[in-house]
Amino acid sequence: LLTGNAYAQKKTDVPMYKNATLPIEERVKDLLAKMTLEEKAGQLNQLNGGAFTGPALNDAGQKAKMQMVRDGKVGTLLNVIGAAETKAIQTIAVEQSRLGIPLLFGYDVIHGYKTIFPIPLAEACSWDLSQIEKNASIAAREASSAGINWTFAPMCDISNDPRWGRVMEGVGEDPWYGGLVSAARVKGLQGNLDNNHILACVKHYAGYGAVESGREYNYVDVSRVALWNKYLPPYKAAVEAGAATVMNGFNVFEGVPVSGSKYLVTDVLKDKWGFKGFLVSDWASFGEMVTWGYAADGKDAALKAFKAGSMIDMESKIMGQFVPELVKEGKITMPELDEVVGRILYYKFKLGLFDKPYQYSDAKKEAATLFTAAHRKEALEAAKRSIILLKNNNNILPLKASPLKIGLVGYYAASKSDLFDFWIAQGDFKNAVTLQEGLGQVWGQSSISFSNGYNADATTTDALIGEAVKSAQSADVIVVNIGLSGKLAGEDRSLANPVIPQGQVELLKALKQTGKPIVAVVSAGRPLVLTQVEPLADAIVYSWILGTEGGNAMAAVLSGAYNPSAKTVISFPYAVGQIPVYYNHFNTGRPVQTDGQGNWFSRYRDIPREAYYPFGYGLSYTKFDYSNLQLSSPAISKGETLKVNVTVKNSGNFDGEEVVQLYIRDIASSIIRPVKELKGFQKVSLKKGESQTLTFELDNGKLSYFDEAGNTVLEPGKFSVFVGGNSRDVLESSFELK
Ligand code: BGC
Repeated sequence: LLTGNAYAQKKTDVPMYKNATLPIEERVKDLLAKMTLEEKAGQLNQLNGGAFTGPALNDAGQKAKMQMVRDGKVGTLLNVIGAAETKAIQTIAVEQSRLGIPLLFGYDVIHGYKTIFPIPLAEACSWDLSQIEKNASIAAREASSAGINWTFAPMCDISNDPRWGRVMEGVGEDPWYGGLVSAARVKGLQGNLDNNHILACVKHYAGYGAVESGREYNYVDVSRVALWNKYLPPYKAAVEAGAATVMNGFNVFEGVPVSGSKYLVTDVLKDKWGFKGFLVSDWASFGEMVTWGYAADGKDAALKAFKAGSMIDMESKIMGQFVPELVKEGKITMPELDEVVGRILYYKFKLGLFDKPYQYSDAKKEAATLFTAAHRKEALEAAKRSIILLKNNNNILPLKASPLKIGLVGYYAASKSDLFDFWIAQGDFKNAVTLQEGLGQVWGQSSISFSNGYNADATTTDALIGEAVKSAQSADVIVVNIGLSGKLAGEDRSLANPVIPQGQVELLKALKQTGKPIVAVVSAGRPLVLTQVEPLADAIVYSWILGTEGGNAMAAVLSGAYNPSAKTVISFPYAVGQIPVYYNHFNTGRPVQTDGQGNWFSRYRDIPREAYYPFGYGLSYTKFDYSNLQLSSPAISKGETLKVNVTVKNSGNFDGEEVVQLYIRDIASSIIRPVKELKGFQKVSLKKGESQTLTFELDNGKLSYFDEAGNTVLEPGKFSVFVGGNSRDVLESSFELK
């Protein structure tokens, strides 16, 4: 029924869907009514883009893609970046295709676009949700100015496996905290979806962090109880924060590739969580259902993906090809197809692409937005807050002010590209600040002697070690940057041995012979086994992969200009054979002690069973004392909230920030619960000598868990409460839920 504006538009024959004054729902309906079956299928087709200007105009492959866009057979492209490139191809879509439907441009904006922030795992160690949201909003502002309107982030996969190269991209091992971080990222990226923001994509739905043996693309086997309680919470939190899109993972769930999992996509995501946005496959994951042995051929895979509720096809090229046939054969109905295409069109309208198709492709805005001083300042703040102090014997850190002779050793300390990981193709390497440069800024370049110590790939030679020892000989302190190349962090970067490379251990041993104090700065996109480093270094600083401002941030920590406050959100294993090791594990039927006598514990005979550095661990230059853990009541009834008070005192010699963490344990329940679960944290800033009493609230939501059907369960019984500066060293109390 047409009234008012709509009626007026109809009369002038401007299609309703082009009328910006009408509600989006009406515009979508009108457009769907005008689209052919092939054009609808085209909206499910996402192709890898590349360039569309200059020499690309004569490239047969690019020309074919341009023709497909002109024919309405492509709805979205990935990997087209820059205002000029996106404008060139958007012009074809909008001005040369029959209905002028604009394209979505997707890109992996994982931790910044041009100004590069710390890797997501490192950033999560800051426990600073407002900084995390701010970083994402800057990433969105830069990317949107370069024509991008959709990012494939945040990755919300919980993982306990540092062999998996993608732990760098995630939120660590805690489902609740992972949810908070994921939600902050979604809010920062999407904002109010104006042209300074972009669509977020929750990935890789679901359970991809559980790949067996940490091997990329591998099999996954998780129970529904684990799915609901451990893996789903961060995706759920991100969807609740309004994430517009979700990506199917590469993995299987209960023997079904998740792209074809009706349970995950339709029953959970769409029906139970009420997700109204759209889904995209992971790269070719629809087609991969054939390789998995779940679909007979491409057409079968397209049908199975569609029937599961999956939508856009990234690069398998089977939806565009087979959906029209499947509709004609009656296997997919037109209302089913319209429902899916309508979701995609909705967001194209929502982003304003029909009304202002080039608003994301403004070269002037792009030039004014990328890599600004203000963005770099935030990247520096984020990087400082991501660095973890793991060891500091005799308070060797912070280092003395000038004059101080620093023997800097380590190829990565002078390597700009190793401040970046697998994902960063467009980041500005040239202007990134290395550790060598950062230290020079503080102490003066002439106070620093530098030597590589090892090669780009972390191997070494006697000669390199000899040079390093010689160069460090006259220094007051040795700062040695070890770890792994940034290029080993990211997709398809699985490692069977996430350890400090042997050559670097040999280097450390030789440096130790000098008798000088040694500060090890460890860079890597994952927690590495540090048992060999620990006895050789007086201090250990974990710097992850920090991005553009890495060197300045590391120098700020080493000099004490910034007092480190980060705490790890992923456990550091004692040995590779201990993986997976994580704080929120379960009790066995055996007693919990690790060193009893004559009892058969669940233990290793060669190493402890606990992590080397546990979840939540990280030191400061000052010291925090915990006391006076008090609960508001020994018992609460359902519907009541328990208050937990604790006093934290800065008893050291520096002002500092502390991440105060609260954990619970549900003592007996219908499904066994982890020995500890994080349920609260506060990052507080305390002057030296200052103390503060903090209050945490435990409501019913925090005391409940999910059953295997995804229903929340709240059971009466006893709970333990733990508060401390990490998951291991805690004060303990208990209460009862009646
Ligand atoms: C990755 C995704 C990524 C996509 C597009 C895939 O290989 O698994 O995380 O978003 O490629 O680049």
